[in-house]
Amino acid sequence: MFDVIVAGGGPTGLMLASELRLHGVRVLVLERETEPVPYVRALGLHARSIEVLDQRGMLDRFLALGQRYPAGGFFAGIAKPAPERLDTAHPYVLGIPQTTTDRLLAEHATEVGAEIRRGCELVGLRQDDSGVTAELSDGTQLRSRYLVGCDGGRSTVRKLLGVGFPGEPSRVETLLGEMEATAPPETVTAVVTEVRKTEKRFGLGPIGDGVYRVVVPAAGVAEDRSIPPTLEEFSRQLRTYAGTDFGVHSPRWLSRFGDATRLAERYRVGRVLLAGDAAHIHPPTGGQGLNLGIQDAFNLGWKLAAEIDGWAPHGLLDSYHTERHPVAADVLDNTRAQMELLSTEPGPQAVRRLLSELLAFDDVNRYLTEKIMAIGIRYDFGEGHELLGRRMRDLRLQRGRLYELTHAGRGLLLDQTGGLSVAGWADRVDHVVDSSTELDVPAVLLRPDGHVAWAGEDQEDLLGQMPRWFGAARDEPDTTVG
Ligand SMILES: Cc1cc2nc3c(=O)[nH]c(=O)nc-3n(C[C@H](O)[C@H](O)[C@H](O)COP(=O)(O)OP(=O)(O)OC[C@H]3O[C@@H](n4cnc5c(N)ncnc54)[C@H](O)[C@@H]3O)c2cc1C
Repeated sequence: MFDVIVAGGGPTGLMLASELRLHGVRVLVLERETEPVPYVRALGLHARSIEVLDQRGMLDRFLALGQRYPAGGFFAGIAKPAPERLDTAHPYVLGIPQTTTDRLLAEHATEVGAEIRRGCELVGLRQDDSGVTAELSDGTQLRSRYLVGCDGGRSTVRKLLGVGFPGEPSRVETLLGEMEATAPPETVTAVVTEVRKTEKRFGLGPIGDGVYRVVVPAAGVAEDRSIPPTLEEFSRQLRTYAGTDFGVHSPRWLSRFGDATRLAERYRVGRVLLAGDAAHIHPPTGGQGLNLGIQDAFNLGWKLAAEIDGWAPHGLLDSYHTERHPVAADVLDNTRAQMELLSTEPGPQAVRRLLSELLAFDDVNRYLTEKIMAIGIRYDFGEGHELLGRRMRDLRLQRGRLYELTHAGRGLLLDQTGGLSVAGWADRVDHVVDSSTELDVPAVLLRPDGHVAWAGEDQEDLLGQMPRWFGAARDEPDTTVG
């Protein structure tokens, strides 16, 4: 008997497993593939995901293998530097192939005690009052208290639950692969530059050892996207768009992706939840899908752990849907808008030119940059201080940094007054007395995901908010640090 079975060992499932392990939850990750796939989908991490890794002390290993790039130019690929003084300690994009991200997340999940079983495909599930039974393709039955479907866009879990997945099917398809080319690099660069003036879904980017990452529009939408395209298909489409196939040969891998855009109607059905691509799919414009999944897991992990530990207040687990569903809906909308702006039709091209002009206004540029980086998100916690519902950026404190205090994934009262107390919740919430020139409110209460649950200086007011996020008080002393 496990506490939680996570179906799917992609970035969402692996991040969730690590978060659950922070709280001692017994977690099993079931992954269908026997080996990691070679396909590189996501190429990087945006600021909020970088912050999330930093909040859990995992960032250094990603920084060691990634490369920092300027944060601008991500909205529909419109070349515009990001505004200055972004509200984050990580105002960059971390270039890192998804295969590396997946490997690092798997290593970390294993280190903190998650069990990952490869070659295990979930094919059935049923739930009752006390738990969930998962059935694997070899007939094995496994039991857990909760199950989370992190099994990607074609999610078996979502289908078994019968959760609706409304939206639009793919209308355009793009070929993506890695291969060698005989054309000289200067020719490749010159031709690509010319083609990209009109067709943005086109590119041959060198990735070392004479290998290129090739992107080119497909001739149509494939009936079955799980069948990979052929090298001949790439050659033909390259000739169609560039007049040459650059002598492509020796493919490492070939794939295709569409622009289907869909959002699950519900993220929770009883003891089964959905996260990541299982809950939402959209085109990769702006590079947001993996980031969104990691951030779903970050929102869900502590809530599910609280439920299992028995202290979750009523409604906490349901707040996962309430908070994350609108965030995904917003990402879907911005990718729809970006896809329009990538069209070669005169109308969308005119809108693109207009938006390019508007990006000269700092507020417009900041708004769209924060949207892509996911640092502008504010959950609806009701009326209150302007920080309420927002995630707190990393702050320099007199003794260290804020994010260094959040590795254990507990609640945190950062108290600049020294006069507050978390007595009654000290087993779930740390109380740190310290100060920062970057924080102009006397104290903030942070949830385990770093979102501001309360800001102020009044002890009674604070105590009024604690149960909403941390459940009932227990008779334990405040173990203040500082
Ligand atoms: C071309 C392309 C480029 C992209 N670029 C970016 C980018 O730059 N930035 C970004 O943020 N996102 C990007 N994305 C999106 C990103 O790749 C996905 O959003 C991300 O992989 C979703 O993670 P996930 O863990 O939710 O799902 P997945 O990565 O799909 O993982 C699901 C896992 O579940 C397993 N599985 C499936 N069914 C079962 C089952 N029944 N039982 C057990 N296991 C199962 C699968 O084998 C898989 O390992 C891109 C996508 C594409 C196609």
